[in-house]
Amino acid sequence: MTDLQLPDHLGTKGAHLTLDGHDLVDLAGQHGSPLFVFSSRRLAANASGFLKAARTGHKRARVFFASKACSNLHVLKVIRAQGLGIEVNSGGELWKALAAGFAPGEIVFNGVAKLVPELEQAIGHGIQAINVDSAFELSRIAEVATRLGKTATVALRLVPGIGGGATAGIQTGSERSKFGMGQVELQAALAIARGHPKAIDVAGMHLHIGSQVLDLPDFLESVRFTARQAREIAASLGKPLKHLNLGGGYPIDYAHRRKGANSASSDEGFDLSAFAAAQPAAAMVGAVASAAARELGNDSEIFFEPGRSMVADAGLLLSRIESERRRGAQPWLYLDAGYNLLMDSAAVRWYYHMVNAGRMGATPEATFRVVGPLCDSADCFFDVEGEYLWLALEEKLTGLPGITLEILEEIRAKTVRLPETRSLPASTVPGDLIALLDTGAYSLEEMFQYCGRQRAKAIMINADDSIVTLRERDRPEDLLDPAERSAMVAAE
Ligand SMILES: *Cc1c(COP(=O)(O)O)cnc(C)c1O
Repeated sequence: MTDLQLPDHLGTKGAHLTLDGHDLVDLAGQHGSPLFVFSSRRLAANASGFLKAARTGHKRARVFFASKACSNLHVLKVIRAQGLGIEVNSGGELWKALAAGFAPGEIVFNGVAKLVPELEQAIGHGIQAINVDSAFELSRIAEVATRLGKTATVALRLVPGIGGGATAGIQTGSERSKFGMGQVELQAALAIARGHPKAIDVAGMHLHIGSQVLDLPDFLESVRFTARQAREIAASLGKPLKHLNLGGGYPIDYAHRRKGANSASSDEGFDLSAFAAAQPAAAMVGAVASAAARELGNDSEIFFEPGRSMVADAGLLLSRIESERRRGAQPWLYLDAGYNLLMDSAAVRWYYHMVNAGRMGATPEATFRVVGPLCDSADCFFDVEGEYLWLALEEKLTGLPGITLEILEEIRAKTVRLPETRSLPASTVPGDLIALLDTGAYSLEEMFQYCGRQRAKAIMINADDSIVTLRERDRPEDLLDPAERSAMVAAE
């Protein structure tokens, strides 16, 4: 076993990586590759641990799982069994939440541009809260509720001006993002609410500062913002708010730095601190909930909406090496999984740690350029756009007056977000199985069929060690839309 820091549910049996004691090389042999494998035990432990920590900090805390992180019905059922509610982002997710057995009172609904039919469904079911993103949307809600003869229970989503989140694509708490109302828009929304006392019940306020938020102070700042703002809203409406929704964004440790290695780097000393959580999500939410109890009191319920931290480390992706080459001295490895299965690796240049699932006894001492199978240069597990941009910038900047090596290094670090190479055992060859760790969040529903690729199969190891299929691998005929099938000349 190498000195890699692995979470409890991962282990080794001989040279093989295991998940809840199941040999992952064997599982890929039985189910094929690429294959997502989830641990129901880990999922349940993440959900119950988070809920317990939140309740310990604030006795009226409630937790709503952000289902866009993974809305597979089997996964939702495990989460629901732990006593969590659910956060949905569309009519589709609302439909899935109801299909998974969540009661309307356990559902909150976010989104920047909700459709009239989605609002009709949400108001018709009487869900816990619609988190209103804009003044425009609140007037749309007033119209729909009035037409249905119902009262819509809403929370106002505000811009706290806090920039949490590991990359620009997942920062959601500032006026540079597309989410939520600033102070001027809030006043307009309050006027709309006061003008429609029958149709609109402003029950709460909401914020969500980003994803993979590493710094506890950012969360604590959002509690202080909530305290100030909730008082103002209550004064304006002449009644207290029933709930205060502090959002999600809790991080997990994607970096898996090795013991003794310099704090947050691995893969050839690359700075992975944006992907390395200093403390578990449960510990962080415990601290946030305690702060909420002190600063907001117990009159209102406190809501949390974690997504990533519930599912990310409960799933991993097994991918077979299908080819190799050398460019000069540099070996390259070609996996059967690319950004068709892990869109965030390209879209927000996300880091997923890799291990050779069949050679866990060997030290990962060799470096490889690792890429996916798509006919597209962006399909790689390094930052091809950043590297390209950096080459151009470096050429322009080097030698200019005032440009020091430190400034150059700072620009490079901001420009190139992923390590150039991955560390794997020198013996790694085609046919080996690579495990991409912590791929349970923002993966299954982001797969697509570009280049005629079939979306992967996903399985879950249940608490009783039985195995359930979360979704089947696409069949060749799944590559055709039903409307295309009539154009099919011959098959097989
Ligand atoms: C995506 C999202 C979440 C979940 O964020 P995580 O980083 O996955 O915890 C919570 N609330 C809202 C409004 C979201 O859009």
